[in-house]
Parts: sequence; structure tokens; C-alpha cells
Amino acid sequence: MSFKNTLEFAKQLDAQDKLSQYRNEFHFPQVNGKDVIYFTGNSLGLQPKRSQKYVDEVMKDWRELAVEGHFYADKPWWDYHERLAEGLGKVVGAKPEEVTVMNTLTVNLHLLMVSFYRPSEKRFKIICEEKAFPSDQYMLQSQARFHGFDPSKAIVEVKKRDGEHAWYTEDILQTIEEVGDELALVLMGGVNYYNGQVLDMEAITKAGKAQGAFVGWDLAHGAGNIELKLHDWDADFGAWCSYKYMNSGPGNASGVFVHERHLGKEDIPRFEGWWGTKKETRFLMKPEFDPTETADAWQLSNPPILSLAPYLASLEIFDEVGMGTLIEKRDKIVAYLEFVLHEIDKEVDSTFEIITPEARGCQLSVFLHGEGRSLFDYLMKNGVITDWREPNVIRLAPAPLYCSYEDMYNFGQILKQGILTK
Ligand SMILES: *Cc1c(COP(=O)(O)O)cnc(C)c1O
Repeated sequence: MSFKNTLEFAKQLDAQDKLSQYRNEFHFPQVNGKDVIYFTGNSLGLQPKRSQKYVDEVMKDWRELAVEGHFYADKPWWDYHERLAEGLGKVVGAKPEEVTVMNTLTVNLHLLMVSFYRPSEKRFKIICEEKAFPSDQYMLQSQARFHGFDPSKAIVEVKKRDGEHAWYTEDILQTIEEVGDELALVLMGGVNYYNGQVLDMEAITKAGKAQGAFVGWDLAHGAGNIELKLHDWDADFGAWCSYKYMNSGPGNASGVFVHERHLGKEDIPRFEGWWGTKKETRFLMKPEFDPTETADAWQLSNPPILSLAPYLASLEIFDEVGMGTLIEKRDKIVAYLEFVLHEIDKEVDSTFEIITPEARGCQLSVFLHGEGRSLFDYLMKNGVITDWREPNVIRLAPAPLYCSYEDMYNFGQILKQGILTK
């Protein structure tokens, strides 16, 4: 499709957009009395208006029912988390019994590594991408040390080629093959937080498993952004936070996937707590652990209902829209943003470099050669919320649920002004 960098054309795209009414489902921060242009849904999604109602419901049940709310609230708390499983399954391509909601992302990855990183003297290595998100690096290092291994020997990072901004699938597959029977675990970010690259999770999962390793995915930037088929890809596990593209609120509960072949097993190593037992017998307070036959077996504590409430509200929106429709708009609005960037680049003779490869979701990472932090500050002052990463990269993620084509056009104009007035 051929685009035009005009307000009229952007408005025309909005008029044709099936998701345009969803913009009104979200609260936008204001700068200079206007809704901001929000590019940081990859960091913290905007607040869905309907989440207030879900939180209020829980506050009311707590106020009026207190402990009885566990069983007699409209949405009883003892199995509240089960309400999220089906919707989440659709978002990540899993059966409802393969997903659960608990804790936060890094905590969950640690808990999953208890089950899926069980190194032996011979098979102890972990493959991840170089410069993984810091929390993932700390997690892997501490897990290696916990098991008595030197992280610098246990962790194998797949590098980017010199001068390149993205990984090659063939390099990842080759590393997997080279590590071979020393490979215990592949654990990577399915969508890279820095360059926005979507890895070939199907091929990588297959290759890791062919070496006899477990394969898991950190989907912090994947959930609610790209099409995931965790069950069909045959991944062993996955986890994601819900506050980025999933719009559930700051620091909110994380989602977990465990493939069905690992469910209902008595002998799987796992850290356990009372919420992992069958709910029918949970309150008999028996001494022996009787796990649910779902991913809920990994739950330890009774979940924070006040956190699950906005997550449930947000999932309802994903369920109404469907990942297919969401992805269709995502591709078009990201393509339009890319077009606008190129147009502005030509007009001001600047040199932006989009470092996100073609395998991408919602995010474009843009290297601003020559432009500095002052440009970023100019954007923020003029109502464009982006995010800055050293040395010189801004990340732009036009979340398709609430960003408009008009936003993309307006952003281009502000960017141009910012460069010209520098
Ligand atoms: C955002 C993000 C995290 C954040 O972890 P928390 O435990 O939720 O603080 C972890 N890993 C990746 C890849 C991320 O993008």
C-alpha cells in the first residue's frame, strides 16, 4: 500500500481502522492540555478505563464480605485466577490448563528454572542472547552459581555479527548444535527488548529439544504483541509480565506457560505451596501435596486479587479484539510509522537508522546518528512519550489498541521541528 505523509491521509487510515473505537477505552496522560502520543506501551501499557470497575468490585466485596469473599463474591477469590486462563491461552497460543497467573516475571522464571534447569556435570549449559535484559542476565548467573557452576562457563551467549544490529537464526541454531549434549536449557527473550527483533521461536525450540535440552521463552515483549503458539511450537515453558503490551498495571502479575506434557506429574522438581494443590481438597489442610493437573500446580500463594482484577479487565479487551485483528493493525501502523520516519529523514536530511529487522512486532528502534538526548527531551516536552536507551536509540512502539495513524503523522511533524530547532 502506498502511504502519504499528510494529516488528511492519516485521518483516512483512522476512519478505516476497525480498532479506532478502542482508543477511547484507555486513559491518556496529558501534556500541554492534550493527549500524549504514547510510544511506550512496550514498557507500561496505558490504563484501560474498564479496569477501575474491576478493582472497585474487589474493594466492594472485601468491604462488604471480608473473608466470605473467598467463596461468595460475584467473582470468588479462591479461583479468581482461573478466569484468566482461557483468555491468556488465546494470547499466547496455549490450552487454558497450560497457563497460570502468579508472582512477577523474574520470580516466575526462577521458579520455572527450578523445574527446567537441572544441570548435571556433563549437561549444564544455558544458551541465551547476548545483552539479554539485565534481569534475565542476573537470573541466569545466579542460577548457575546456585548449582555450583561458574556463570562464565555455564552461560553461552549468542552474539550478533560485527556491525549488525540483529541476530541470525542460523547463528542461534549453530550455537545450539555446537553446545550439543552439554546443553541443559535454552532461555531467550522471544522478542528482544532493545532492537524489537522477533526470534524464530519455532525453529529454535525444535533445535534445542533435538539436543535433549529444555527450551523456555521470556515473553515480556511478546505477550499481546505478536502471534505466539507456545503449545504447537512445543516449548517447555514461558513467562511474561502483564504490564507492557498487556496493559494490566505497573508491576502487575506475570503469566506462566507450562507445556501439557509436564502437567499432572508427581515427580517433577518444583517449589510448592498450598495454591498448587487441588482446590477441592485444599481447605482440608492435608499434609501431603496433591497438585492440580494444570499449570496452577506452580502457584505457591493465594494470588493478589487486587492485581488480577485489572489484568482480567485488560484481557477482556484482548478477547473482544482477537490477536489476529490486533496484529493486522499493528503491521499497518508500524509500516506507516516507518514511512513517516523515512519521509522526515529526507526532509531534514538527518540520518536515522531503523535497527529493528523485518522480523518485528510493534516496536521500531531508531538509532539517531548525530541527534542527541536533547531531541528526546524536546519530544517529551511536546507530548511525545518515547523511551531512550544508551547510546543513542529511541524505541517507538505504537500499541495498536490505542495509537492512531494521526498520532504517527503528528509525531513526524514534532520530530521534524525538534531537529530543525536544535
Ligand atoms: C520488562 C522485562 C523484564 C522485567 O522483569 P520483572 O520481573 O517484571 O521486573 C524481564 N525481562 C525482560 C526481557 C523484559 O523485557
